[in-house]
Amino acid sequence: MSRNQKPRLRFAPSPTGHLHIGGARTALFNWLLARKEGGTFILRLEDTDRERSRPEFEDEIIRDLRWLGLDWDEGPQKGGPHAPYRQSERGATYQRAVEDLLERAQAYRCTCSMGRLDAIRKEAMAQGRNPHYDGHCRDLHLGPDCGPHVVRFKMPQDGTTVVQDMVKGPIFFENQEMDDFVIRRTDGGYTYNFVVVLDDHHMGITAVLRGDDHLSNTPKQVQLYEALGALPPRFGHMPLILGPDGKRLSKRHGATSVGAYRDMGYLPQALLNYLARLGWAHGDQEIFTVDQLVEFFSLAAIGKAAGRWSSEKLDWVNQYWMQNLPITEISRRAAPFLKEMDLNPDPAMAEAALDTVRSRSHDLRDMVSRARFFFLSDNRLEMDPRAMRKFLKPAAIQRVEELAAELSILESWNQESLEDVIHGWLHQRDLKLKSIAQPIRICVTGQRVGPGLFETLEVLGKDRSLARIRNGIRRAREQA
Ligand code: GLU
Repeated sequence: MSRNQKPRLRFAPSPTGHLHIGGARTALFNWLLARKEGGTFILRLEDTDRERSRPEFEDEIIRDLRWLGLDWDEGPQKGGPHAPYRQSERGATYQRAVEDLLERAQAYRCTCSMGRLDAIRKEAMAQGRNPHYDGHCRDLHLGPDCGPHVVRFKMPQDGTTVVQDMVKGPIFFENQEMDDFVIRRTDGGYTYNFVVVLDDHHMGITAVLRGDDHLSNTPKQVQLYEALGALPPRFGHMPLILGPDGKRLSKRHGATSVGAYRDMGYLPQALLNYLARLGWAHGDQEIFTVDQLVEFFSLAAIGKAAGRWSSEKLDWVNQYWMQNLPITEISRRAAPFLKEMDLNPDPAMAEAALDTVRSRSHDLRDMVSRARFFFLSDNRLEMDPRAMRKFLKPAAIQRVEELAAELSILESWNQESLEDVIHGWLHQRDLKLKSIAQPIRICVTGQRVGPGLFETLEVLGKDRSLARIRNGIRRAREQA
């Protein structure tokens, strides 16, 4: 990349499964590099595996990237100068490139049967060698009418391929260790190693950050660039994310897809913040806004050691953001969970109600269920019968009724005035707050635990609070 060229980065998922946590981190790091340098971030769908690629995974990946806020400048649903951005639609380009390589004898047709390839593989394994295509067809110059065939790329047979890895430093690969790998299959489909190079080249990608499970592919890709007479992008391979036990993060360790965390009620801000810290550091800072990530992100600070997944830490980061994002944002993020629970509160009421429980809530789903009582209609509130029996005995009912009469003449209904009136009323009767707090709470929330009593009453408002108190008393009497 020339010095003044703006970077072009990409995320190139295969739509063969959910968007994995590791994939999301790859997307995030590439996105951060692009945003930091005012470059371009491209989304490209690598659906070369026709059997395993599914449109529903594509939709899910797109939905989850959007949810995380990782927006792309070129790609599906957006277009761009290098459209289409889905590999299954780019066949004509690949076709031309194969013809070209064949013509220049940098690739060749191979008619070796499965049986033959199997035998070579078995023999190599038996001798403890790396299974390796033996180059049987390499110099046969087979033409297009040779029958069913694959096309293989001609790897140099000696020398060394050096990958100047941005994360790991220089890595050396002996060319003789590498296969003449297949670039077009018998069925006419193209392979990942081939099309990734063509696309990255055509799309002007300047740097590729990806998981180090791809490291063994990189020398093959570098050789392909060479054959195309093109300059490879800079590569950086990040260690994969490990589970708490040091093994590669997998389902055994719990949820691994972005969608699962979204459905559980995690905030995208928290997931991004947490993912950024898995393999990257900025001093010992743990909490970052997205703007800070963009500002501080640097390749040099990507760790060589693998990050280990910790649900406890994710929860801690999530709770930080649950408490510290503006309530309008929290409320916006809570909307799908409200809908799921068939709750349809007025937006201002929802904000006020969610604000009373967010600091106690583990996640959005938990928050909505803690605030649910606010949103039910006053005469349909579910009341815990055991709590009613315990706290709404005749004497308590009597007190609550008297206090309610006093409250009904209160003009301004807010925490301070409620506190004043209630404390004054208790004082006159030489009673403690305890004597009415739980009885009123049970009436207005239906439960024995909830947000602060005065806050709850303020958010519910005068009419609804008094209606709930009346209903509570009536139901307690019926139950008795
Ligand atoms: N489609 C590849 C994957 O999902 C992309 C690898 C790459 O970034 O080159 O693993």
